[in-house]
Amino acid sequence: MNKNLGINTKCVHVGEVEDKQFKGAVSPIYMATSYAFDGVDVKRYPRYFNTPNQEMLCKKIATLENCEAGLIFGSGMAAISAALFAFLKTGDHVIIQQVIYGGTYNLIVEEFEKYGIEYSFTDSDKIEDFIPLIKENTKVLYIETPSNPLLGITDIKAIASLAKEQNIITMIDNTFASPINQTPADFGIDIILHSATKYMGGHSDISAGAIAASQEHIDLIWKTAINFGGNLSDQTVWLLERSLKTLNLRVKEQTKNAQIMAEYFESNSNFEKVYYPGLKSHPQHKLAKSQMHGFGAMLSFELKEGIDAMDFQRNLKLIKPSLSLAGLESTTVSPAQTTHALLSEEERLKRGISDGLIRFSVGIEETKDLIADIEQALSSIQ
Ligand code: PLP
Repeated sequence: MNKNLGINTKCVHVGEVEDKQFKGAVSPIYMATSYAFDGVDVKRYPRYFNTPNQEMLCKKIATLENCEAGLIFGSGMAAISAALFAFLKTGDHVIIQQVIYGGTYNLIVEEFEKYGIEYSFTDSDKIEDFIPLIKENTKVLYIETPSNPLLGITDIKAIASLAKEQNIITMIDNTFASPINQTPADFGIDIILHSATKYMGGHSDISAGAIAASQEHIDLIWKTAINFGGNLSDQTVWLLERSLKTLNLRVKEQTKNAQIMAEYFESNSNFEKVYYPGLKSHPQHKLAKSQMHGFGAMLSFELKEGIDAMDFQRNLKLIKPSLSLAGLESTTVSPAQTTHALLSEEERLKRGISDGLIRFSVGIEETKDLIADIEQALSSIQ
């Protein structure tokens, strides 16, 4: 039934907790951490991810990702670590796309060796770079597309079919696209991961994570997840449910704005390079078009030589330089100073992350106001 509903209807109605007592229009919050164990079908407990609010929100997330089941966590990293450790054990090998979120990179390089899990990073996001890394013990293939911060695009369908041939589980970090702009299960990806702190939450006030997958895979991840204990509090579950009601409206508006802003940066001589999959000049524009419903609301740009990236950001009045992304408000960040600060300068430059690179998370403000803010910042430092 859910499959035939429109996207806004799904966002609003799937996974509501029915208020049987008072017939209120929105979900009540069940705050109990202790439930009856006798004479009940389900033994409920917050860390089992099955309080009424958690259970219902998982349905909404699964529906949005065209999957059978879902799980929600206290952060994106709680979701990512539970998924990886559910499928990997000592002696297993995982292949990871070179450009991924810094926290996931740290999880792999700082934790996997302790558990005897082998890993290989690809040289790029191209399928040709994944193939030679496959070994007999490869169990998981992990991708992130569009990637952070250069908006590279990985061929989701090619990755899914390569992995299926070899019986390898595929995982994707779908945070940047959100389920509005990309539904990787349609191409055969097994496990869809989100930092729900980003678009799903959307108001820069929730820390959460989510997984969507088949019921069989979610059952398997659940067994590991209850041991790690990364569940979300029911109050935040409720806030996340509320945020998801406007997910499509927000993300569509942000995506529309991002296209306008990308075109503005591309046509303005104060900017040297623009990275946005919706631009025809993006090297993987066609691939992005074939696998995304929309090109997303994240972009990056480089200022022309001589304009200091930090000076520029300090002079913005409306757009907020800040660490996270995907809120209703437009924000910027310097990856060289933040997400990629731990890399050596040589390694950073090898990955295309210059000091002048700025990542821009486009919000819902009118683009004329965003452009006016950028122009006043430029004229105050030139
Ligand atoms: N994946 C991506 C693409 C991210 O940008 C982030 C956080 O910035 C994460 C995962 C981790 O999410 P969280 O901070 O909610 O743990």
